[in-house]
Amino acid sequence: MLALWDRLRRASWSLPVALILFVLLWLLGPPELRSAIPIYIPFLIALGLEMLFFVEARRSGGGRRRPDRGPTTSDRERYGYAAETDELLLVRRGDEEVWIPYSGQTPEEIDELIADAEEEPPRPMPPVPARPWHQPIRRFLVGVGLIGALAVVVWLVERNRGWDGLDAEARAAATERFSAEASRVAGHAVTIRCDESGEIVGVVQHTDGVAEVGGDLAYLTPQRCYDLYRLAFEGDVSFSQTARAIAVLAHEAWHLNGVRDEGRTECYALQSGVELGQRLGLDDDTARQMMRQQLVENAGRGAASEYVVGPECRDGGEFDLDRRDSEFP
Ligand SMILES: [Zn+2]
Repeated sequence: MLALWDRLRRASWSLPVALILFVLLWLLGPPELRSAIPIYIPFLIALGLEMLFFVEARRSGGGRRRPDRGPTTSDRERYGYAAETDELLLVRRGDEEVWIPYSGQTPEEIDELIADAEEEPPRPMPPVPARPWHQPIRRFLVGVGLIGALAVVVWLVERNRGWDGLDAEARAAATERFSAEASRVAGHAVTIRCDESGEIVGVVQHTDGVAEVGGDLAYLTPQRCYDLYRLAFEGDVSFSQTARAIAVLAHEAWHLNGVRDEGRTECYALQSGVELGQRLGLDDDTARQMMRQQLVENAGRGAASEYVVGPECRDGGEFDLDRRDSEFP
């Protein structure tokens, strides 16, 4: 274990390289890798190792090197004994240490050598080469900064990949769930699909979904599917996007129920959206606030839009699905 730790510490420069390589493989590799290993795990490991390296570097005195007690090369050169094998005598003179070369001289000759050395003016101590105290902190900050930058890259790529970034299993589980929820609103078994081809719904038609009135099949855009997936499977909410996605699913479900008029369909959708949102994981208040916000936005579309819910869409109005309660939607 200690040997492993030692090897890790000595190769600490390779930690960021390993993390970068793994992140690239995870982002560009097969979706199976993404579903097998959540990306936060390598990030946690990298962060943990950085912290261990940092704590250890601090504990060992900031990596300060102890001064070498042996003769320096300049000592050896000064006395003409550059070879490693020569013996040297250590003579203390005040605070200074003087090395006297010794190669079999008589005691008298040694005394002479010492006297010669003592006549030399004291040399200032060479500065001790020490790693500055802030070096571990700088190394730690650089490491954490790199981890943070990589996390941002992963987040950006994943956010743009959205629905297409999910593996087939996750997409199947999600559409099954959407279909089950839509069936409750439609009153009969229906299928919700996500239009990955982009040919059925999407940018061209300027709509978020299509459904056959009274039929059993509806398509949503991948963006709406992904917002619903994030809510239902990851508990991840971004208020107006999530609200729009819930309203769209409920809207198509009401078309499948048999309602054709767009204003009436949308009015029903915003009321059903409260319960739908709760069933997908929202709390009561949030779900209701989201549908109220959608109703406000709907009014802002202008009377010309066929999607505007109209004056019947109010508490106690013709389109009120539950006239007994006073909450709307
Ligand atoms: Zn519609």
